[in-house]
Amino acid sequence: MAANWKMNKLVWEAEDYMTRLLPQISDADEVDVAVFAPFTCLGTVARMVQDTPVMAGAQNFYYQDSGAYTGEISAPMLEDIGAGAVIIGHSERRALFGETDEMVARKTARAVSAKLLPVVCVGETKEERDAGRMWEKVSEQVRAVFDFLDANRIVGDDLVFAYEPVWAIGTGDVASPADAQETIGRMRVLLGELIGEDFAGEVRILYGGSIKPGNVGEILAQKDVDGGLVGGASLGAESFAEMVNGAEAVVE
Ligand code: PEP
Repeated sequence: MAANWKMNKLVWEAEDYMTRLLPQISDADEVDVAVFAPFTCLGTVARMVQDTPVMAGAQNFYYQDSGAYTGEISAPMLEDIGAGAVIIGHSERRALFGETDEMVARKTARAVSAKLLPVVCVGETKEERDAGRMWEKVSEQVRAVFDFLDANRIVGDDLVFAYEPVWAIGTGDVASPADAQETIGRMRVLLGELIGEDFAGEVRILYGGSIKPGNVGEILAQKDVDGGLVGGASLGAESFAEMVNGAEAVVE
Protein backbone atom coordinates (compact mmCIF):
# COMPACT_ATOMS: atom_id res chain seq x y z
CA MET A 1 0.00 0.00 0.00
CA ALA A 2 1.42 3.29 -1.08
CA ALA A 3 0.43 6.75 0.16
CA ASN A 4 0.96 9.56 -2.33
CA TRP A 5 0.73 12.81 -0.42
CA LYS A 6 1.21 14.85 -3.61
CA MET A 7 1.95 18.54 -2.80
CA ASN A 8 0.59 18.41 0.74
CA LYS A 9 1.95 18.62 4.28
CA LEU A 10 4.45 20.79 6.08
CA VAL A 11 7.25 19.14 8.06
CA TRP A 12 5.36 19.29 11.35
CA GLU A 13 2.30 17.72 9.70
CA ALA A 14 4.42 14.91 8.29
CA GLU A 15 5.87 14.30 11.72
CA ASP A 16 2.44 14.26 13.33
CA TYR A 17 1.07 11.92 10.64
CA MET A 18 3.91 9.39 10.95
CA THR A 19 3.68 9.47 14.75
CA ARG A 20 0.01 8.47 14.44
CA LEU A 21 0.35 6.08 11.48
CA LEU A 22 3.16 3.80 12.63
CA PRO A 23 1.54 2.35 15.77
CA GLN A 24 -1.76 1.81 13.94
CA ILE A 25 -0.19 -0.41 11.25
CA SER A 26 2.32 -2.28 13.38
CA ASP A 27 0.36 -5.56 13.08
CA ALA A 28 0.07 -5.41 9.29
CA ASP A 29 3.22 -7.40 8.71
CA GLU A 30 2.10 -9.03 5.44
CA VAL A 31 1.68 -5.68 3.69
CA ASP A 32 4.54 -3.59 2.30
CA VAL A 33 3.87 0.07 3.02
CA ALA A 34 5.43 3.14 1.44
CA VAL A 35 4.81 6.83 2.06
CA PHE A 36 5.59 9.10 -0.90
CA ALA A 37 6.21 12.51 0.62
CA PRO A 38 7.16 15.89 -0.86
CA PHE A 39 10.94 16.47 -0.92
CA THR A 40 10.71 18.93 1.97
CA CYS A 41 9.26 16.29 4.35
CA LEU A 42 11.09 13.28 2.92
CA GLY A 43 14.05 13.42 5.32
CA THR A 44 11.67 13.57 8.27
CA VAL A 45 9.62 10.61 7.01
CA ALA A 46 12.78 8.62 6.23
CA ARG A 47 14.15 9.26 9.72
CA MET A 48 10.86 8.24 11.34
CA VAL A 49 10.55 4.95 9.42
CA GLN A 50 14.08 3.83 10.24
CA ASP A 51 13.89 0.49 12.07
CA THR A 52 10.36 -0.08 10.75
CA PRO A 53 9.34 -1.98 7.59
CA VAL A 54 7.75 1.18 6.14
CA MET A 55 9.54 2.74 3.19
CA ALA A 56 9.97 6.46 2.57
CA GLY A 57 9.56 7.43 -1.08
CA ALA A 58 9.84 10.47 -3.33
CA GLN A 59 7.26 11.54 -5.90
CA ASN A 60 9.76 12.32 -8.65
CA PHE A 61 13.48 12.63 -9.44
CA TYR A 62 15.77 13.35 -12.39
CA TYR A 63 17.76 10.62 -14.09
CA GLN A 64 21.10 12.47 -14.19
CA ASP A 65 23.14 12.18 -11.00
CA SER A 66 24.43 15.76 -10.73
CA GLY A 67 25.09 18.88 -12.76
CA ALA A 68 23.37 21.92 -14.19
CA TYR A 69 19.75 20.86 -13.69
CA THR A 70 18.36 23.66 -11.56
CA GLY A 71 15.50 22.57 -9.34
CA GLU A 72 16.02 18.85 -9.83
CA ILE A 73 16.80 16.05 -7.36
CA SER A 74 18.90 12.99 -8.28
CA ALA A 75 18.90 9.33 -7.27
CA PRO A 76 22.04 9.70 -5.08
CA MET A 77 20.36 12.63 -3.31
CA LEU A 78 17.30 10.50 -2.59
CA GLU A 79 19.45 7.68 -1.28
CA ASP A 80 21.41 10.15 0.83
CA ILE A 81 18.23 11.31 2.54
CA GLY A 82 17.03 7.74 3.18
CA ALA A 83 14.41 7.27 0.44
CA GLY A 84 13.94 3.74 -0.80
CA ALA A 85 11.38 4.25 -3.55
CA VAL A 86 10.17 6.80 -6.08
CA ILE A 87 6.99 7.36 -8.09
CA ILE A 88 7.71 7.75 -11.81
CA GLY A 89 5.36 9.00 -14.52
CA HIS A 90 2.40 9.93 -12.32
CA SER A 91 -0.33 11.23 -14.63
CA GLU A 92 -0.12 14.65 -12.96
CA ARG A 93 3.55 14.86 -13.94
CA ARG A 94 2.80 13.63 -17.44
CA ALA A 95 -0.09 16.06 -17.95
CA LEU A 96 1.08 19.15 -16.05
CA PHE A 97 4.87 18.95 -16.30
CA GLY A 98 5.39 17.40 -19.73
CA GLU A 99 6.84 14.09 -18.59
CA THR A 100 7.17 11.91 -21.69
CA ASP A 101 7.40 8.13 -22.09
CA GLU A 102 11.11 8.62 -22.82
CA MET A 103 11.68 10.48 -19.54
CA VAL A 104 9.73 7.81 -17.69
CA ALA A 105 11.91 5.12 -19.26
CA ARG A 106 15.17 6.96 -18.45
CA LYS A 107 14.08 7.57 -14.87
CA THR A 108 13.00 3.95 -14.44
CA ALA A 109 16.36 2.67 -15.69
CA ARG A 110 18.26 5.01 -13.33
CA ALA A 111 16.06 4.13 -10.35
CA VAL A 112 16.59 0.41 -10.98
CA SER A 113 20.36 0.82 -11.27
CA ALA A 114 20.36 2.90 -8.06
CA LYS A 115 18.27 0.23 -6.28
CA LEU A 116 15.59 2.81 -5.65
CA LEU A 117 12.26 1.02 -6.12
CA PRO A 118 10.36 2.74 -8.95
CA VAL A 119 6.57 2.79 -8.86
CA VAL A 120 5.82 3.44 -12.53
CA CYS A 121 2.37 4.85 -13.29
CA VAL A 122 0.41 4.20 -16.46
CA GLY A 123 -3.20 4.89 -17.37
CA GLU A 124 -5.60 6.25 -19.95
CA THR A 125 -7.63 9.46 -19.95
CA LYS A 126 -11.42 9.51 -20.12
CA GLU A 127 -11.30 10.57 -23.77
CA GLU A 128 -9.03 7.65 -24.62
CA ARG A 129 -11.25 5.21 -22.76
CA ASP A 130 -14.43 6.55 -24.36
CA ALA A 131 -12.79 6.24 -27.78
CA GLY A 132 -12.01 2.56 -27.11
CA ARG A 133 -8.27 3.27 -26.94
CA MET A 134 -7.63 2.30 -23.31
CA TRP A 135 -5.44 -0.69 -24.09
CA GLU A 136 -3.60 1.02 -26.92
CA LYS A 137 -2.54 3.75 -24.47
CA VAL A 138 -1.75 1.55 -21.48
CA SER A 139 0.18 -1.04 -23.49
CA GLU A 140 2.17 1.69 -25.26
CA GLN A 141 3.14 3.20 -21.88
CA VAL A 142 4.07 -0.22 -20.44
CA ARG A 143 6.24 -1.11 -23.46
CA ALA A 144 8.05 2.24 -23.29
CA VAL A 145 9.11 1.68 -19.67
CA PHE A 146 11.67 -0.92 -20.80
CA ASP A 147 13.37 1.19 -23.48
CA PHE A 148 16.51 1.75 -21.36
CA LEU A 149 16.43 -1.43 -19.26
CA ASP A 150 18.12 -4.73 -20.00
CA ALA A 151 15.22 -7.21 -20.27
CA ASN A 152 17.61 -10.10 -19.60
CA ARG A 153 18.71 -8.73 -16.25
CA ILE A 154 15.57 -7.22 -14.79
CA VAL A 155 13.66 -9.18 -12.14
CA GLY A 156 10.18 -8.78 -10.72
CA ASP A 157 11.39 -7.13 -7.50
CA ASP A 158 13.17 -4.35 -9.39
CA LEU A 159 10.06 -2.30 -10.07
CA VAL A 160 6.38 -1.88 -9.34
CA PHE A 161 3.69 -0.77 -11.80
CA ALA A 162 0.62 1.25 -10.88
CA TYR A 163 -2.37 1.22 -13.20
CA GLU A 164 -4.02 4.57 -12.58
CA PRO A 165 -6.81 5.48 -14.99
CA VAL A 166 -6.54 9.26 -15.18
CA TRP A 167 -10.34 9.68 -15.01
CA ALA A 168 -10.33 7.97 -11.60
CA ILE A 169 -7.61 10.07 -9.97
CA GLY A 170 -8.95 12.48 -7.40
CA THR A 171 -12.44 12.31 -8.91
CA GLY A 172 -14.22 9.81 -6.65
CA ASP A 173 -14.88 7.79 -9.84
CA VAL A 174 -13.18 4.55 -8.90
CA ALA A 175 -12.74 1.87 -11.58
CA SER A 176 -14.91 -1.15 -10.93
CA PRO A 177 -12.99 -4.06 -9.41
CA ALA A 178 -13.66 -5.97 -12.65
CA ASP A 179 -12.21 -3.14 -14.78
CA ALA A 180 -9.13 -2.87 -12.56
CA GLN A 181 -8.65 -6.64 -12.78
CA GLU A 182 -9.12 -6.71 -16.53
CA THR A 183 -6.51 -4.07 -17.31
CA ILE A 184 -4.01 -5.23 -14.71
CA GLY A 185 -4.46 -8.83 -15.89
CA ARG A 186 -3.73 -7.71 -19.46
CA MET A 187 -0.67 -5.80 -18.26
CA ARG A 188 0.62 -8.98 -16.63
CA VAL A 189 0.12 -10.96 -19.84
CA LEU A 190 1.94 -8.25 -21.81
CA LEU A 191 4.81 -8.23 -19.29
CA GLY A 192 5.08 -12.00 -19.74
CA GLU A 193 5.46 -11.50 -23.49
CA LEU A 194 7.91 -8.61 -23.16
CA ILE A 195 10.14 -9.80 -20.33
CA GLY A 196 9.16 -13.35 -19.40
CA GLU A 197 6.74 -15.39 -17.34
CA ASP A 198 8.83 -15.31 -14.15
CA PHE A 199 8.99 -11.54 -14.24
CA ALA A 200 5.26 -11.24 -14.96
CA GLY A 201 4.42 -13.54 -12.06
CA GLU A 202 6.62 -11.69 -9.59
CA VAL A 203 6.19 -8.03 -10.49
CA ARG A 204 3.72 -6.14 -8.34
CA ILE A 205 0.99 -4.15 -10.06
CA LEU A 206 -1.02 -1.68 -8.01
CA TYR A 207 -4.32 -0.02 -8.79
CA GLY A 208 -4.70 3.72 -8.13
CA GLY A 209 -7.67 6.04 -8.51
CA SER A 210 -10.07 7.09 -5.72
CA ILE A 211 -9.26 4.18 -3.43
CA LYS A 212 -10.69 4.72 0.04
CA PRO A 213 -11.35 2.58 3.11
CA GLY A 214 -14.79 1.60 1.78
CA ASN A 215 -13.59 0.13 -1.53
CA VAL A 216 -10.04 -1.06 -0.89
CA GLY A 217 -11.08 -4.61 0.08
CA GLU A 218 -12.97 -5.44 -3.12
CA ILE A 219 -10.26 -3.97 -5.35
CA LEU A 220 -7.42 -5.79 -3.62
CA ALA A 221 -9.39 -9.05 -3.67
CA GLN A 222 -8.93 -9.13 -7.47
CA LYS A 223 -6.52 -11.82 -8.60
CA ASP A 224 -3.95 -9.63 -10.35
CA VAL A 225 -4.19 -6.53 -8.15
CA ASP A 226 -1.29 -6.55 -5.70
CA GLY A 227 -1.95 -3.31 -3.88
CA GLY A 228 -3.05 0.29 -4.06
CA LEU A 229 -1.53 3.70 -4.72
CA VAL A 230 -3.66 6.12 -2.73
CA GLY A 231 -3.79 9.89 -3.07
CA GLY A 232 -6.55 11.83 -1.31
CA ALA A 233 -7.55 9.11 1.14
CA SER A 234 -3.94 8.69 2.27
CA LEU A 235 -3.72 12.24 3.62
CA GLY A 236 -5.23 11.26 6.96
CA ALA A 237 -3.14 8.85 9.04
CA GLU A 238 -6.28 7.10 10.32
CA SER A 239 -7.74 6.63 6.86
CA PHE A 240 -4.47 5.30 5.40
CA ALA A 241 -3.99 3.01 8.42
CA GLU A 242 -7.48 1.64 7.84
CA MET A 243 -6.58 0.82 4.23
CA VAL A 244 -3.29 -0.83 5.19
CA ASN A 245 -5.13 -2.94 7.75
CA GLY A 246 -7.83 -3.66 5.16
CA ALA A 247 -5.12 -4.92 2.81
CA GLU A 248 -3.71 -7.10 5.58
CA ALA A 249 -7.18 -8.65 6.03
CA VAL A 250 -7.31 -9.44 2.27
CA VAL A 251 -3.85 -11.05 2.38
CA GLU A 252 -4.83 -13.14 5.40
C1 PEP B 1 -2.83 9.22 -7.00
O1 PEP B 1 -2.52 10.38 -6.81
O2 PEP B 1 -1.99 8.42 -7.41
C2 PEP B 1 -4.21 8.82 -6.73
C3 PEP B 1 -4.57 7.60 -7.01
O3 PEP B 1 -5.04 9.78 -6.20
P1 PEP B 1 -6.51 9.54 -5.58
O4 PEP B 1 -6.43 8.35 -4.67
O5 PEP B 1 -6.80 10.81 -4.85
O6 PEP B 1 -7.43 9.28 -6.73
